[in-house]
Amino acid sequence: MSNRLEGKKAIVTGGSRGIGAAIARRLAAEGADVVITYAGNKDAAQQIVAAISAAGRSGHAIQADSADATAQRAAIAEAAKTLGGLDILVHNAGIADFASIETDPADSYAKQFGVNVDGVFAGTAAAVPLMADGGRIIVIGSVNAHTMPIPGGAIYGATKAAVAGLVRGWARDLGQRGILVNVIQPGPIDTDLNPADGDWAKTLIPGIALGRYGRAEEVAALAAFLASEEASFITGAAIDIDGGFSL
Ligand code: NDP
Repeated sequence: MSNRLEGKKAIVTGGSRGIGAAIARRLAAEGADVVITYAGNKDAAQQIVAAISAAGRSGHAIQADSADATAQRAAIAEAAKTLGGLDILVHNAGIADFASIETDPADSYAKQFGVNVDGVFAGTAAAVPLMADGGRIIVIGSVNAHTMPIPGGAIYGATKAAVAGLVRGWARDLGQRGILVNVIQPGPIDTDLNPADGDWAKTLIPGIALGRYGRAEEVAALAAFLASEEASFITGAAIDIDGGFSL
C-alpha cells in the first residue's frame, strides 16, 4: 500500500460497515487519520477504529444520525477538532428503502432524502469552513442516479441524482480553493444493504457485464485515488464503478 495520504485528516460518514468501512480502512492504510460516524452500530464502529489504529493511524468514531442536521454539523465539527484539521470528507452514509409510488411512500421519501441528501448538504456546509485548501469532498452516490433496473427505486434514485447535482455546483463553488468535489456512483456492491446472495441479486447479476457484484474494497480503491494528489485535475465528476451494469 502506498503512502499517498500520509498526514491527511479524513472523515467518513457511515464508516462502521460496508463501503464506508472499507473506505475508512483504505484511507488509513494509505496514511490518513480517520474519524468515522455511524448511526447505531457501536461494536462495528469500534472494530473499524481498531483497524485504523492497527494501520498505525489515529482513529475515532462518533455516533451521529446523518439525517439530523444539528447532529451532523456537530459531528463534523467534533471530528475536525479531534483530527486537528480536515483534508478529506467522504459522504458515504446512505439508506435504500424501495417502495412503489402506488403505495404513496411519503415516509420513505422523507427518510431517504433525510440521510442521502440532507445529511450530505449539512455535512458539507459544516465542513467547508474547516477544510484546508486543496481538500477533497467525495460523495457516494449510485448508478441509480441515471439508471433504474427494478421497480420501487424512484426515491432512492432521485436522492442520488440530487447529490450528483450538488457535487457539480460545489465543484464550481470551491474550485478557487483547490477543493475537489466528486461523486462515486457504484453499481451493485456486496454489503448488508445489498448482499450478493440477496433477493435483488438474482435480478441484478444478469445485467452486470462482469457477471458479479462488486466488493466494497473496489469502491474504496477509487475513493483513495480521488482523495490523492493523483486525482488533481478531477472535479465535478460523476464516476460510475459498476462492472458494466449501466451500459
Ligand atoms: P450498509 O447498509 O452496508 O452500511 C451503511 C453505513 O451507513 C453503516 O455504517 C451505517 O451505520 C451508516 N448509516 C446508515 N444510516 C445512517 C444514518 N442515518 N446516519 C449515520 N450513518 C448511517 O450500506 P452500503 O455500504 O451498501 O452503502 C453505503 C453507501 O453506498 C450508501 O450511500 C449507498 O446508498 C451507496 N451505494 C451502495 C450500493 C450497494 O449496492 N451496496 C450501490 C450504490 C450505492 P450503522 O452501522 O451504525 O448502521
